[in-house]
Amino acid sequence: MPEPSRNNVVNVLSPLAGRNLVVVGAGIVGASVAYHAARAGATVTLVDAGRPGAGVTVDSFAWVGASGLRKGPAAGLRATATAEYHRLGAELPGLPVT
Ligand SMILES: Cc1cc2nc3c(=O)[nH]c(=O)nc-3n(C[C@H](O)[C@H](O)[C@H](O)COP(=O)(O)OP(=O)(O)OC[C@H]3O[C@@H](n4cnc5c(N)ncnc54)[C@H](O)[C@@H]3O)c2cc1C
Repeated sequence: MPEPSRNNVVNVLSPLAGRNLVVVGAGIVGASVAYHAARAGATVTLVDAGRPGAGVTVDSFAWVGASGLRKGPAAGLRATATAEYHRLGAELPGLPVT
């Protein structure tokens, strides 16, 4: 099998517009990568070995929050995640992000 060309590797800091990307795995992580890459102008193909969203994601309680953790390194991360959750909810009004 030939070595993959370095030209096919997308640096996460390089512009995505005009790129053709394949994202492997359609759980919450892959779906988010695919969605945001497409928003940034890439043409994205999202593939999954099974049914999209049927991996660990299907069992998630879908809790996002920063309650009870206001100090330490995880507090900032959780606060950012909460802000991103609200941003996504506003960006996708058709989705039941509650
Ligand atoms: C009971 C439970 C409750 C949870 N509650 C929460 C919560 O409240 N809040 C929270 O933030 N997190 C929670 N989590 C954690 C969260 O669910 C996971 O961190 C998250 O869903 C992982 O998403 P993922 O996209 O990485 O993986 P997955 O959802 O597993 O997606 C990976 C996908 O990749 C596909 N795949 C794998 N290998 C290949 C391959 N070689 N080729 C093609 N496709 C492939 C799989 O079929 C799958 O669809 C919970 C987890 C569990 C188990």
